[in-house]
Amino acid sequence: MFCPKCGSLLYPKGKEMVCKRCGFRKEKEGNKIIVSKREEKEFAVIEEDVSLLPKTSVICPKCGNNEAYWILRQTRAADEPETRIYTCTKCGHRWREY
Ligand SMILES: [Zn+2]
Ligand SMILES: [Zn+2]
Repeated sequence: MFCPKCGSLLYPKGKEMVCKRCGFRKEKEGNKIIVSKREEKEFAVIEEDVSLLPKTSVICPKCGNNEAYWILRQTRAADEPETRIYTCTKCGHRWREY
């Protein structure tokens, strides 16, 4: 990422990107990081109680097995649809369906 003012490289400093040459600073675009952290958390929850989850017949995109545990996740924004997360009973692969 480059400074829009003087064109030199921006350096990360805390939550900002800072230009060492002219002092320009910009907040990091952190949206993607937040999303991936949220997904990790969702998956971590599943890890613990996977044996209690209901099973359904769905084809695993990885190994072709036709049975998977599933769990419904309400996403944080009310206008986002619910997400169904599957865990393959055979290979443990996880994927989501919107
Ligand atoms: Zn600059
Ligand atoms: Zn599988």
